[in-house]
Amino acid sequence: MKSDAKHEGPGAAHGPNRSLRGLGVSSGVAIGPAHVVESGSVTIPEYSLPADAVEGEVTRFNEAAAKARRQIKKLKSKALVLPDSASEEIGFLLDAHLSMLTNSRLTRGVERRIKQDHINAEAAIQAEIATIAQTFAEMDDAYLAARIGDIREVGRRLTRNLLKQEYRAFSTLPPNSIILAEELTPADTALLDPKAVGGFATVLGGAEGHTAILARSLGLPAVLGATGLLAGVRNGVTVIVDGVQGRVIIDPSPEVLEEYRTRRAAREREREQLKSLRKLPAVTRDGTAVTLLANLELPRDLEHALENGAQGVGLLRTEFLFMNREDLPDEEEQYTVLRAIVEGMGGRPVTARTMDLGGEKLAGWMAGRYGEPANPALGLRAIRLSLREPKLLETQLAAMLRAGAHGPLRILLPMISSVSEVQKVREIMGQVARRLRRRGVVIADPLPPVGVMIEVPGAALAADALAYAADFFSIGTNDLTQYTLAIDRADEQVATLYDPLHPAVLRLIQFTIEAALRSRIPVSVCGEIAGDPRYTALLMGLGVRELSMSPPSVPAVKKRIRGLDLMEASRRARVIMDQSDLGRIATLLDDFNSMV
Ligand code: PEP
Ligand code: MG
Repeated sequence: MKSDAKHEGPGAAHGPNRSLRGLGVSSGVAIGPAHVVESGSVTIPEYSLPADAVEGEVTRFNEAAAKARRQIKKLKSKALVLPDSASEEIGFLLDAHLSMLTNSRLTRGVERRIKQDHINAEAAIQAEIATIAQTFAEMDDAYLAARIGDIREVGRRLTRNLLKQEYRAFSTLPPNSIILAEELTPADTALLDPKAVGGFATVLGGAEGHTAILARSLGLPAVLGATGLLAGVRNGVTVIVDGVQGRVIIDPSPEVLEEYRTRRAAREREREQLKSLRKLPAVTRDGTAVTLLANLELPRDLEHALENGAQGVGLLRTEFLFMNREDLPDEEEQYTVLRAIVEGMGGRPVTARTMDLGGEKLAGWMAGRYGEPANPALGLRAIRLSLREPKLLETQLAAMLRAGAHGPLRILLPMISSVSEVQKVREIMGQVARRLRRRGVVIADPLPPVGVMIEVPGAALAADALAYAADFFSIGTNDLTQYTLAIDRADEQVATLYDPLHPAVLRLIQFTIEAALRSRIPVSVCGEIAGDPRYTALLMGLGVRELSMSPPSVPAVKKRIRGLDLMEASRRARVIMDQSDLGRIATLLDDFNSMV
């Protein structure tokens, strides 16, 4: 699905008809007017203001500060449910943040700079924090040195609040606008409405990160990692995003525009044809049935899952519940959302994963509480965070147990690396279930199966032991590839090295499948390769009979399955597993695919 980031030949990157290469991460062609987002999460806009805009800017800053105070107060009330010591500690911290937002040196300094220097609020915050940091550093006081971290944190919160106003603009764009940005975080991407936006392109971001995954699930053509994208682009100029070939064309010539319009129409026709497979079963030519499930990023994906004929939800990423907000969703809110999804699937199974926050999916709440980790992918992420904050996990499990009373629900645990983590979750789940029953609350009976994501190489190698502790496995090839090859899945600089066909990754997948089959527990694949027909024969040949993918991918994978001879696929998988050369593996797989 992805195409490589490369630069075009000389000349092509300038002037009209400017063509740039990037990673085509979500297929399809989008054509529309450019909307340049100045303020991705990396760049802080700096501009000067005309004299008559100064008062308005001070008001804008004061509103952002008032919002920050409201957010912090809300956080404080949520912190009360945490264990005593944690609640006290975070309470102190938040009080300190509150005082920095109330007629403090920071707020006074920012206002003064806006008024005196006629600069925007974000730039004033940056400048004032730099000065405060300098003063503190000169004082050589360890206590004050530690406080500068807090001031920066408050500055980031203020800046986030100021920049959020940009995102509202997403909903008032001309139809089919193409968003061009330095970076879109997964949380930004979740705000895009596919009915209003045509597609997007960014300078930063890898093909397997969550921004890319969201683009696929929203069905938005997207190109990431397009170096030089923003140089001299004007709002409103026509842009083509070719998510198939990983190309962005700015201000295309009439001939190029016509060519892409034709391609877009052909793609639409192809999609319609694939949809006709919706009601047909996913069965190989020799009669083996495969279960095709959907990965849901956002509740609105449910509709697409059903439209595309998914037989259930194989992965509900619950992170959306925590994104684009500073507070935490309570049990009732989570229950309501989960119940709607369980009921919406009308008796088909729903696999709800406990939150996988951390890594690139930093919720505002988390950033405020734990700061920026040095190594996000290796840090306090997913199940580690849930076990560190048991109240959060209890709330989420309670919501899941209650939603499980309305239809078949399975619980999936992300980033598991040892058996003891599964045991701890089961213990907590048991306590939550007892508490709910004592209160007379209706919950799933029997309790839902508890499955484990196999996405850490250590978990794959310990799959035999984990198979005793878990009721099912789901192989997360996105992270498994990232961690096995030590390649950041969201970093465009190393995107060409990211390859799930690497023999080390394939062996871990094979090892996991065999452990599951020996223990007779179900095993599925829910990483992005599950939705790419290129890998279908290999995964089936290795023994997988359940695949979970973004809803728009279901028809193409089904088509591949219906054309597949499983005996042949198994034979080819064996040959592939004997290879140690990545190029040879790719050729053996692609040759096999082209035979059918
Ligand atoms: C994976 O890692 O393959 C996976 C499915 O989980 P996520 O993409 O949400 O990290
Ligand atoms: Mg993962």
